[in-house]
Amino acid sequence: MSLKPSESTILKGLVVVALSVFAASAADAWVADKLPARLQARLENRARDIKWAASLDTEGQLESVVETAKLWVPGSSVRVAFMGGSQELRGAVVQAASQWLGPEGANLKLDFGVAPGYRNWETGDTSYSAEIRVSFLKDGYWSLVGTDAVDPEIAGPDEASLNLEFDRPSDDEFETTVLHEFGHALGFHHEHQHPQEGCEDEFRWKDQPGYEPTLDAEGCAYTRDRTHRWPGLYRYMSGCPNWWSKADTDFNLRKLEDAYLYETNGFDGDSVMKYYYEPWMFKDGTNSPCYSAEPEPSLSDGDKAAAAEAYPPGQDSLEERIEALRQQLSDLEQELAAAKAAGGARAETVEALLSGRVAYYRARLP
Ligand SMILES: [Zn+2]
Repeated sequence: MSLKPSESTILKGLVVVALSVFAASAADAWVADKLPARLQARLENRARDIKWAASLDTEGQLESVVETAKLWVPGSSVRVAFMGGSQELRGAVVQAASQWLGPEGANLKLDFGVAPGYRNWETGDTSYSAEIRVSFLKDGYWSLVGTDAVDPEIAGPDEASLNLEFDRPSDDEFETTVLHEFGHALGFHHEHQHPQEGCEDEFRWKDQPGYEPTLDAEGCAYTRDRTHRWPGLYRYMSGCPNWWSKADTDFNLRKLEDAYLYETNGFDGDSVMKYYYEPWMFKDGTNSPCYSAEPEPSLSDGDKAAAAEAYPPGQDSLEERIEALRQQLSDLEQELAAAKAAGGARAETVEALLSGRVAYYRARLP
């Protein structure tokens, strides 16, 4: 049965929005996930505060303590709540996100509430009704990283920590996108921002010399000019459909200095946490070690291994990890005490930096 033109147009519209997340085909402009400016600004402020407080920190452990405290307590139950979205859509998110869990993945429980409606959160909430607060109502596809979602300095109980701009789970990119954003929610950063083996040196940041700004056939994204020169990523991301500033591009694509898990895991080109990049975005095109074909809608072996390492399955390793978390909690509390003893602005800053994590660990460590 053929669709009436109006229905066909509506369906096409839905598909285009969803496909554009990871830049599916040549016809689609390449869109990446980016936090709302408000959340990104808070994270950047905190990073500045941490740098400042760390410069006064004789022990020199504040930065790494804050970074490693992004994981949830292994073996624990992390609540997830939804705002908006049909039962069908919520059910599909539950199914996709749960691929991170299980014997070969993370030893963690994602508690979505009771099917088919699942748990709700609301913008009037004054305490966290869930650690991970999913919205289908805002623009784009993005998530805070791990326990940042329960850090009141970053996101309050009345704010989403993860957004999926889907109306229905109807296309190829749905599963990949849900897995990617829930990867952030479990504490994982972008694979291409790997501090030792990331893609920073591989990217084509600047325009090829002599590039003349040229838009694609849709009049949207920057593309090759008539002499086949390519734009750089700074210019590409500054245009439609991303509209990123240079700072946004650096925030989302440059390597991260202190990122837990990268310490022990090498770069995984197949990771669902790496964006798909078109070949021209690398200086060496398809020969770049950072280039890989479009992602399968599933986790790579490396993703599962990283999940199992962050949230270990065995009782022995679980006890080790909980012991490590207990040590982190004690480090966090020492930092707080030192800040309070030092008094003044530093105490307020460090307290603001750490209080969310301290409260979370204190409430959940066995
Ligand atoms: Zn991402």
